[in-house]
Amino acid sequence: MRASVEGVEIDTRHWIAGERVTSDRRFASVSPIDEAPIAELSAGGGAEIDRAVSAARDAFRTWRNTSPAERARYLHRIADIVESRVEQLAVVETRDNGSLLRSHRRGVMPRVAMNFRFFADWLLQLDHPDFDVRGHRNHVSYDPSGVAAIITPWNAPLMLGTWRIAPALAAGCTVVYKPPEWAPLTASLLADISAEAGLPAGVFNVVQGLGREAGAALAAHPGIARMSFTGSVPTARSIARAAGENLVPLSFELGGKSPFIVFADCDFELAVNTAIGQFDNAGQVCLAGTRLLVEDRLRDRFVEAFIEKAKKIRQGDPRDETVDIGPQISRPHFERIDGFVQRARAAGMQPVLGGGPNTDLGGLYYQPTLFLDPAAGSEILRDEVFGPVLCLQSFKTESEAVAMANDTEYGLAAVVMTGDKARAERVTAAVDAGLVWNNCFFVRDLRQAFGGNGKSGIGREGGTWSFDFYCNVKNSVFAP
Ligand code: NAD
Repeated sequence: MRASVEGVEIDTRHWIAGERVTSDRRFASVSPIDEAPIAELSAGGGAEIDRAVSAARDAFRTWRNTSPAERARYLHRIADIVESRVEQLAVVETRDNGSLLRSHRRGVMPRVAMNFRFFADWLLQLDHPDFDVRGHRNHVSYDPSGVAAIITPWNAPLMLGTWRIAPALAAGCTVVYKPPEWAPLTASLLADISAEAGLPAGVFNVVQGLGREAGAALAAHPGIARMSFTGSVPTARSIARAAGENLVPLSFELGGKSPFIVFADCDFELAVNTAIGQFDNAGQVCLAGTRLLVEDRLRDRFVEAFIEKAKKIRQGDPRDETVDIGPQISRPHFERIDGFVQRARAAGMQPVLGGGPNTDLGGLYYQPTLFLDPAAGSEILRDEVFGPVLCLQSFKTESEAVAMANDTEYGLAAVVMTGDKARAERVTAAVDAGLVWNNCFFVRDLRQAFGGNGKSGIGREGGTWSFDFYCNVKNSVFAP
C-alpha cells in the first residue's frame, strides 16, 4: 500500500517489529486544502496494537541495556536524516494538515530534527549529583520504564509526535506510536527514517488508524508502561479511564482558552501584532491566547487597530509563500467551529470581524473572527473553539484582569503585555497557567517545562521533566 503525495512516495502500512504490516481495513487521508483524498492507509485495531506492543516489549529487553551514548548516536542519525528531508516532510505535511508550507520548511521540520538532537544531548548530561545521608552515599538513577504509548493530534503532527518519541527513545523506552488519523502521513515517513538510521526492529513502531479503534486499544493495553497523550479533554477522559485500570502513569497535554492581557502601558504596536498572531495556523494552536483582555482606556484604539490589521491577513492555499493562514483541518472540525460562531450569533452576540466561512475561497477556509464582550458564561467565552475565533473583553484594574484571566477551567498559557516590569512580575505570579509570556509569545526552548494546569493537562514535559516521566527514577543508598 503506497501513496504518492506531492511527488513523495509513502508506504502507508503500519510499521511493526521493523516490518510493514497491512490491515484488511483502510481509512483515507483527505487534504484540507481542497478536500481531495490523497492517501489510503491501513486502519489498525486491537490485533495490530497487540502485535506492536509485543514487538516493543521484546525490543525493550535489548534497548534498555544500550548505553546512553549509543542511544544518542541513533537519535542524532535520525536528526541528520530528518534534516536532509526537510523539504519532503514539509510538502507532505502541508498537503496532509493544511498548515503553512513556509513554516514547515523553516520552523517546524527543523524543530523535529531538534527534538531528536536535544534529547540525545540532554540524556548525556542528565545528572543528579549524589549526596551524603549520614555517611551513606545516596544515588538517583533514571531507569527506562518499558513501552511508551504515544498518541498525538493533527495540528502539528510530526513535531508533536517527535516531542514525545525522542525523549522516550533517549530514556531507553521502546515506543508504540498512534498518529492522528486526520494527518497521518509524516508518521509513515518517520518509520522509514528510523529504519534508515538503523534503529533495531521493534524499538519504534507505528500503528495507523482511528482514535476510537487503534488509539483506544493502545490506551487500554496492559503491556504499556507509560501513556503520553496530546489532544482534547473528552479523549483524555477516556484514555485516563483505560490507563487507570492498568495503573499506567500518564502525561496529558490538552486544550486551552488562554488569556492575552493588554495593559494600557504596553507597547501598542507589539500588542496588536502579537494579538493578530493568535490566528496563526488558522487558530488551531493549543497555546493561543483566545481571550483578549484589554484595559478599558485602550480598548477602542486597540479594537480599531486590531480589525484593520486582521483584515489584511491573507488566507489561502498554504503552499503559497505569501499566505498567512490556511484552511481548517477537516469538514467536521470546520462545522464544529461554525457551530460555536452561529450559536453565539443566535444568542445575540454579533462578531465585529468575520463570523462565518470565507465564501470567496470556499472549502475549509474560515474567516478570522472577533467577538466583543461575549455574554458572561457563554460557551464561546468558556470552551476551546480551536479555530480562528477570538473574544475580547475589557477590564479596569490589574486585579480585575487577573480574576478574568483565571476565570477558566483551563490553565495552559497566558500572555501579558505591559511596559511596567513590576506589574509583569505580579501578574505572571498571579495567573494560573503552565506557561506565561511577557511582551512576547511562543518563545520556546526544549529545556523549558511544558504543560498546563486544570483541564489543560497533567504533568510536564521538556528537559529533565520528560526523563522523569519516561523513566522509573530509582533512589539507591550505599553504606560506606
Ligand atoms: P482528539 O482528542 O480528538 O485526538 C487526538 C488523538 O487522540 C488522535 O490521534 C486521535 O486518533 C486519538 N484518539 C481519539 N479518540 C481516542 C480514544 N477514544 N482513545 C485513544 N485515542 C483516541 O484531539 P484533536 O481534535 O486531534 O486535537 C485537538 C486538541 O488537541 C485540542 O484540544 C488542542 O488544544 C489539543 N492540543 C494540545 C496540545 C498541547 O501540547 N497542550 C498541542 C496540540 C493540540
